[in-house]
Amino acid sequence: MSGSVIDLRSDTVTRPSPAMREVMARAPVGDDVYDEDPTVIELEARSAELAGKQAGLFVPSGSMANLIAQMVHADRGSEVIVGESSHCVLYEVGAGAAIAGVQYNVIPGGGLFTADQAAARIKEPTFHTPGTGLLWVENTHNMGGGVIFPQEEIGRLGALAREHGLPLHMDGARIFNAAVASGKPLTELAREVDSLSFCLSKGLGAPIGSVMVGSAEFRVKAHRLRKMLGGGMRQVGIIAAAGLYALEHNVERLAEDHRRARHLAEAVGAMPGMRVDLETVQTNIVMADVTTGRAAELVERCKPEGLLFHGLSSGRVRFVTHLDLDDEQIERSLAILRQALTA
Ligand SMILES: *Cc1c(COP(=O)(O)O)cnc(C)c1O
Repeated sequence: MSGSVIDLRSDTVTRPSPAMREVMARAPVGDDVYDEDPTVIELEARSAELAGKQAGLFVPSGSMANLIAQMVHADRGSEVIVGESSHCVLYEVGAGAAIAGVQYNVIPGGGLFTADQAAARIKEPTFHTPGTGLLWVENTHNMGGGVIFPQEEIGRLGALAREHGLPLHMDGARIFNAAVASGKPLTELAREVDSLSFCLSKGLGAPIGSVMVGSAEFRVKAHRLRKMLGGGMRQVGIIAAAGLYALEHNVERLAEDHRRARHLAEAVGAMPGMRVDLETVQTNIVMADVTTGRAAELVERCKPEGLLFHGLSSGRVRFVTHLDLDDEQIERSLAILRQALTA
């Protein structure tokens, strides 16, 4: 559809399709605060099954999932060992500190880290120092450019966590992108972690919602905390139905988003004034350094032409591909960018 806006800001901009809206309209519902909504029950069971965990919990957002995970696993005043550019550190309004009462012990770098790096930060609480409460990985890593956390390293992190009796949580907002790109089933990606959360509202195309999975005991605690935080919802099966539809129809097709991101990355990387580290382009996110001028300027120049993307601090721009885009729109994006760079 030429003339329309091409929105590469995020995969959260995807809108429910007519087929998705239809299953939403028909969904059987009940009061989910009483655990009586059959569609939510089905979504939670399906999610747990896909991840190989005992139980699932539907929550309104990925941010709430992350907050609940920290509240379940980490004592107040304890530390969460986490990559420095993780979503919970950068983009959740300080909720870990303000609400969960944890402090982040951040590992520098692009978001991925090794078990050895994490091990060096684990500490016992003493009368004047905080102890470690939780190990945290983000997969795929958003600010790292959608990179997949290497599975061997997650294996080592799992062993490290068990050795120290620490929980390991995975912020898997885009875990299905990792699953599709790596060809590994979710059960394998989730095996080492005590809990995992994933977003239905990003590349999977649902309008709202995330699911947390873990042990039955984890769910009991998370369920209470969801209510405490105001996330208890009632006849929310109409939204869970969109999630079930997304899990059924929109997972395998993520490969298309990855193919388009790759194409975009290669073409943008070849433009004068732009640099892309193709190594990091593993899923649906493309980070590009603007080597001449300012990233914010490039964003502003493309906007009136109908192309939207994010300018980050540090002279970077971020493009995200998703299911509301087609090949023609990617070509048009490249033409607009080329024009903007030579203007
Ligand atoms: C988007 C995102 C979240 C938060 O999800 P919301 O539903 O927007 O609150 C958490 N973690 C990562 C890595 C994300 O990309």
